[in-house]
Amino acid sequence: VPIAVDQPLIWFDGNFIAGNTPEAPLTTHAMHYGTAVFEGIRSYATADGGAAVFRLPEHMERMRKGAQMFGIDFDVDRASEATLATLRANGHRDAYIRPLTWMGTGSIGLDVDPLTQHLMIATLAKVVHLGGARTRLTVSPWKRNPATSLPALKLSGAYVNSILAKREAKQRGFDEALFTDDKGYVVECTGANVFMVKNGAITSVDHRDALPGITRDTMIELSGAQSREVTLHELLDADEVFVCGTAAEATAIAVLDRREFGDNPVTRELAALYARVVRGEESRYTSWLTPV
Ligand code: PMP
Repeated sequence: VPIAVDQPLIWFDGNFIAGNTPEAPLTTHAMHYGTAVFEGIRSYATADGGAAVFRLPEHMERMRKGAQMFGIDFDVDRASEATLATLRANGHRDAYIRPLTWMGTGSIGLDVDPLTQHLMIATLAKVVHLGGARTRLTVSPWKRNPATSLPALKLSGAYVNSILAKREAKQRGFDEALFTDDKGYVVECTGANVFMVKNGAITSVDHRDALPGITRDTMIELSGAQSREVTLHELLDADEVFVCGTAAEATAIAVLDRREFGDNPVTRELAALYARVVRGEESRYTSWLTPV
């Protein structure tokens, strides 16, 4: 194991390497075509002085489904063990975990069968958050990749769609973009799922083009939210809107284009419950935690 100076160690194909080691050749297929699959997972410090990964099996299962799209033989148990080993090697407790599996070298054509396959796990002590409590959202002029063209999985190349929308939203002074479809239904944000609260009732936006978020599933379980298709019109008419994801957790929306939202007590309460759940402070939900 090399000594980590200021760079955390990265697990790469079975070994730990220093985080700043250049490893991928310039002919790496994934760099040319986006033929890679990633996950965004979090671990949290727990009250007993340890740490736990939140819903690790669900994240790894989603990654396996994505990997299968490229014919990557993804071993869930190996990747899960490597994740825990990387957290331990770096001494990380509150961390963002980034596994990536990708198509390497062997051909520069579009047939991926001859290519080498790789897996890395990075853990980062700093989480990239959304804008925080005052997130300003705007409807994107870009449409989401339809699931009939790209499955709603974390395929790296598909995220160009999110990046275009995010960039366009920021250029107009907003923090985040909201995808809607041609019929006026809400899809999701660039890296988070959408919920609304109206007269105390919580609704989770359901859309076939949206990533089936693990935080979304968690919030539905915690709040008893109803999952259904929601129009942009309904979202603008809601009392509260929040978005959720592994990185975003539950982030209240302050502004959706010209609509300003006031206080968000329901979101605040659910966000607080989520914070206790991920840290193992709610005994009903400790089965979602994998101890590091
Ligand atoms: N939608 C998109 C497009 C995302 O990238 C993410 C982040 N993975 C989410 C939703 C939220 O998913 P999760 O709760 O599983 O992190």
